[in-house]
Amino acid sequence: MRKIVRTSAPNFLTESLQKDWGKQYRKNREDKGTSFEFKWPQLNNEKLNHKLLPYLNEISQKHCFYCDAYPTKSYGERIDHFKPKSNPLYYEDVCVWENLYLCCDHCNSYKKEQFDEKMIRPDDLGYKFDDYFEYNAKTGEIDIKLDISAEKQERAKITCKILGFNEGDKPEDRKRFFRLWHNDPDKYEFFDSYNFRFIFDNLMNIQP
Ligand SMILES: [Zn+2]
Repeated sequence: MRKIVRTSAPNFLTESLQKDWGKQYRKNREDKGTSFEFKWPQLNNEKLNHKLLPYLNEISQKHCFYCDAYPTKSYGERIDHFKPKSNPLYYEDVCVWENLYLCCDHCNSYKKEQFDEKMIRPDDLGYKFDDYFEYNAKTGEIDIKLDISAEKQERAKITCKILGFNEGDKPEDRKRFFRLWHNDPDKYEFFDSYNFRFIFDNLMNIQP
């Protein structure tokens, strides 16, 4: 998970719309129960999620906010509610800008409706991959650092598990890109079209 710097919400997503849509969603869920399915609200005949995608893509250069898969479109681009919309505690957050994360099918299928207050967010102020994780070139997995505080280790473990960092094809995919990177003379020019840039930031001496 690479650090991302979240810009402020696009102008059309005003504070009052974020609030109103959250309230409306709560009302619908409370009136109609779990049979009420969330649908993205419309603004000028366009669904909010469609309007937001270019802004979210801009933030991460079209990478999944969680696993850094690229380009998100070919990996099932979608918007995840970090605090899940199925949980009554978070109904109001359903259209809150800071709760919306660009995400691929893989991460979405592992995270589902899971959430833990201790999860690390890629846009946490001061978050750095190296402060919690390290890439294991042998296994392709993301390991939790050993020389960090117990609290940091716990947060890293929870995040790794909920987002399925080492599940499915991810470790093999990372190994593939790691090999590719070493043999690619154009990597400096096309770095933003790489998957898993957090593996290479140090090697490239890049501060995201
Ligand atoms: Zn992902």
